[in-house]
Amino acid sequence: MKQIAVISGKGGTGKSTLVASLSQIVNNKMTADCDVDAPNLHLLLEEKDQQKWDYSGAKEARINYDLCIKCGICKDVCRFGAITEDIVINNLKCEGCNACVVACPQDAMYLEEVNTGWTSVSTTENGTFAHALLDTGAEGSGKLVTEVRKKIVPFENGEEWLIIDGSPGIGCSVIASITGTDAVIAVTEPTKSGLSDLKRVLDLAKHFSIPAFVCINKFDLNMDITNEMEKYCVEKGFMVVGKIPFDPLIVKALQEYKTPVDTGDQEFIDEINSLWNKVTEYLSQ
Ligand code: SF4
Ligand code: SF4
Repeated sequence: MKQIAVISGKGGTGKSTLVASLSQIVNNKMTADCDVDAPNLHLLLEEKDQQKWDYSGAKEARINYDLCIKCGICKDVCRFGAITEDIVINNLKCEGCNACVVACPQDAMYLEEVNTGWTSVSTTENGTFAHALLDTGAEGSGKLVTEVRKKIVPFENGEEWLIIDGSPGIGCSVIASITGTDAVIAVTEPTKSGLSDLKRVLDLAKHFSIPAFVCINKFDLNMDITNEMEKYCVEKGFMVVGKIPFDPLIVKALQEYKTPVDTGDQEFIDEINSLWNKVTEYLSQ
């Protein structure tokens, strides 16, 4: 099964809309939403038979008070101020660094795994779908992205493609989204910041030696920057596989939790088909 990650330098570029549309157009595929901080693909895909798992992505210190002699050493070694004068752990401050566990002369301290989110796999009209949610403020989005990708694998049933809605940005969760994929599609919009973000995600893909393609969403809103983006892509050897025009009907469709494909927008459907064909043709060479 080949894996394609759709990424963007920041959120709100149309990345999830593209993935949702691809999930309707591409045959024989599974889909994973790896934007674990703010998943939204499930809003556009009707889920059935959802299986859900708690996710433990962090550890916190605990005290066995039967052994504790209140010597205060743990409080002194904790750099995060997570242990009070009365030797009580403040869970909101504990980073699970283990220093107190090592320092405790009574072996009274230990780390315990805590739930920081969940993962799920479900069926949709367009194939198997996985997503996850990290608790607000919790650490470890990259690890949870890896977990989502692992969770969907046992459900593979001869599918040819896994389409990944990657995390936005260029941080560790994006790296976890694209690691081991066969190609990435970078979605961007023609703004100055969009161009800067595009360069950063393309650099990231290049760093990991992953073939990268570009889709310019709402390309007709600023032809100067669209031209600049295309020129940059030509110079750097990245293929622009899709240029989607701004269409108020697409905005209206999304407001109604529909994809542009649902609305039967033929121009959009043709463009997405063309985009997919260019990527898959490249990968079949
Ligand atoms: S270091 Fe160990 S024994 Fe000392 S106060 Fe902390 S938990 Fe108790
Ligand atoms: S695990 Fe680290 S952060 Fe948590 S209480 Fe112990 S020393 Fe402090």
